[in-house]
Amino acid sequence: MSTLTEQEALAQRARSGEYDHLIVTAPGDGVGPDVVAAARRVLDAAGSRFGFRIQWQEIAAGGCAIDAHGVAIREEDLQVADTADAILLGAVGGPQWDNPNASVRPEQALFALRTRYELFANLRPVTILPELYDASPLKSERLVGVDLMMVRELTGGLYFGKPSGEEVTPTGRRAVDTLPYHEDEIRRIAVIAFELARTRSKRLASIDKANVLENSVLWRKTVIEIAKEYPDVALNHLYVDNAAMQLIKAPKDFDVMLAENLFGDILSDEMGAIAGSIGMLPSASLGTAKTGGLYFGLFEPGGGSAPDIAGKGIANPLAQILSVAMMLRFALGEFAAADAIEAAVKKVIEAGLRTGDIWSEGTRKLGTAEMGAAVAEAI
Ligand code: NAD
Repeated sequence: MSTLTEQEALAQRARSGEYDHLIVTAPGDGVGPDVVAAARRVLDAAGSRFGFRIQWQEIAAGGCAIDAHGVAIREEDLQVADTADAILLGAVGGPQWDNPNASVRPEQALFALRTRYELFANLRPVTILPELYDASPLKSERLVGVDLMMVRELTGGLYFGKPSGEEVTPTGRRAVDTLPYHEDEIRRIAVIAFELARTRSKRLASIDKANVLENSVLWRKTVIEIAKEYPDVALNHLYVDNAAMQLIKAPKDFDVMLAENLFGDILSDEMGAIAGSIGMLPSASLGTAKTGGLYFGLFEPGGGSAPDIAGKGIANPLAQILSVAMMLRFALGEFAAADAIEAAVKKVIEAGLRTGDIWSEGTRKLGTAEMGAAVAEAI
């Protein structure tokens, strides 16, 4: 008689209705394990309230995997991730693995996951609770009503284009990068942006540099073609330099923003700065579409492993918790639970509970685990 592998056993338990969603977590390095633990607690609480059961499976990714196994992520762990309904990632990296010339680096785990699941759509929402306006470098009156969603293409463009590299020429060194996009790659990310705009205020700003770059000309033409299928969405185009300025001057004028990989990378960090603390910003990287408008995806906080505060139990888990809300909405179809988690985060902030990064006079400072417990309690 053959014995079941662990994954086959899990699949059998899913079929028998023993649990509803299988989540693979990769807590990673630095503050990752602490904020993932807090987020797990919140998701389990949401499951109890809304009547779904989560099965958790943990894999090693990043620096911890390099130390334990010599690679940033093992093939057998990727195979575990293959069986998941969604992946919840903490953060990878830290000074002890920070050698750009090393052949094995923590971020290879991220690239492996993005490539394996073709996670081409990176979504970064930014909303700012009024209680946290003081954390932003912008004046409070500019923040009222800010509700942004960056949709960034994640698997193409300059970061992957070939040729790329440095060469020595008779007159000195020369380096080249290449910015390629096929219209299909533009089309699939644009569709996600239009679909999202439809569920929000039906405004979409497409970012390019069509006055200079051939690639941006194709980007703009393709987005205009897709727009014909979404007559209810108001589309406008901005050059990236202007978009960077307008985001500071009037962030509330934007809703969904669509950009290729490099422009999206830069603008989403600018949006993070507008929000004040990176500890509040979730993100989702979506790949394969599933049935019913859901996606397979990887959900993680906007920040990194925060080595400066790692091991102290003081990191803000709210970005990770809000990334769980995105996971419920985009991957698991548990919409009421997603809303409840976002409402619970709002409630704890309104109640004056803060981690160190967002603390201000008159509010109560909590550690990572306590903040997770407070949100779980508020659900
Ligand atoms: P970082 O986001 O880790 O830290 C920047 C600043 O934000 C630090 O002061 C940190 O304390 C603070 N911060 C970040 N997350 C926080 C949280 N949850 N609560 C409170 N404060 C928080 O960025 P960095 O310092 O540029 O990078 C540190 C390491 O993280 C590097 O090894 C980098 O490669 C890695 N990194 C990983 C990811 C990822 O896993 N997706 C993303 C970015 C950076």
